[in-house]
Amino acid sequence: MANKTKHIAIYGKGGIGKSTTTSNISAALAEAGYRVIQIGCDPKSDSTNTLRGGDYLPTVLDSLREGAEVRIEDVSVIGYKGVLCIEAGGPVPGVGCAGRGINAAITLLQELELFETFSPDIVLYDVLGDVVCGGFAVPIREGITDKVYVVTSSDFMAIYAANNLFRAISKYAPTGGAQLGGIIANSVQTAYAKPLIDDFAQRTNAKVVGYVPRSSVVAQSELHGRTVLEANPTSPQADVYRELARYIIEDTQSTLPSPLGVTRLRDWAKEWGDKILRIEAQDTGNYAGENI
Ligand code: ADP
Ligand code: MG
Repeated sequence: MANKTKHIAIYGKGGIGKSTTTSNISAALAEAGYRVIQIGCDPKSDSTNTLRGGDYLPTVLDSLREGAEVRIEDVSVIGYKGVLCIEAGGPVPGVGCAGRGINAAITLLQELELFETFSPDIVLYDVLGDVVCGGFAVPIREGITDKVYVVTSSDFMAIYAANNLFRAISKYAPTGGAQLGGIIANSVQTAYAKPLIDDFAQRTNAKVVGYVPRSSVVAQSELHGRTVLEANPTSPQADVYRELARYIIEDTQSTLPSPLGVTRLRDWAKEWGDKILRIEAQDTGNYAGENI
């Protein structure tokens, strides 16, 4: 395909649903006929598990550490509908820097001319975003990815991590770093989740590009070692991921986020602390906040 390959990073707090969301987007894109590479950039090295039915996949860093020459076929597995799965891997526990590892892994993939040979339509980087140290910022910083989507729920720690990512994006974007594609709202379940995330987005010049409900279909599919797209292809949850995938592959917009300062973020959180029980009460007719 003559189109330029899109390089997209998906960031967010640990455990927020990055790998689940990314893998389902990859599966949906592959299902729609796109050539997809997914690169896990989290020392957990479990980004692509549900795409490859649990097949063993050595990480790039483990292979590099073994010292022998590394070939693409040694560190990749063809997963669901042809998605090429790669895990950057992590440092030896207690030794070394995970972020620097990401840099080493991506540099190797570039040297091996993976993107020229496989000629993907899209490369999705699933990156841990708890600490945006220099290493974890590599995919944003050095022109490796064009655009970043940030996964968050309505939990404050996830919003806090998203705000920190916005700080990194706004710092590096003017000098060739990635721009913000938007926020993916995940695990939307309570009545206040959507308004809270929308409000955060509006205040930080970000766009919410999709709302993914919390669903036991996700857990059920994961327990079967599959994406929702593969295990429950006719479920409404699969359609949510298909729509998100379509948005991301077609999206031509990006913004420069305006992160909130520390004090402003704290005040904003307090305002929402006062609001959420009221919103729940409007939803359920039962206000639990009066006695606390
Ligand atoms: P991360 O990659 O950000 O560390 P994961 O994608 O591994 O997080 O997700 C953490 C857990 O949350 C997994 O068990 C996953 O199945 C679950 N999960 C993620 N998104 C949803 C959702 N929308 N509904 C239900 N469970 C979810
Ligand atoms: Mg993960």
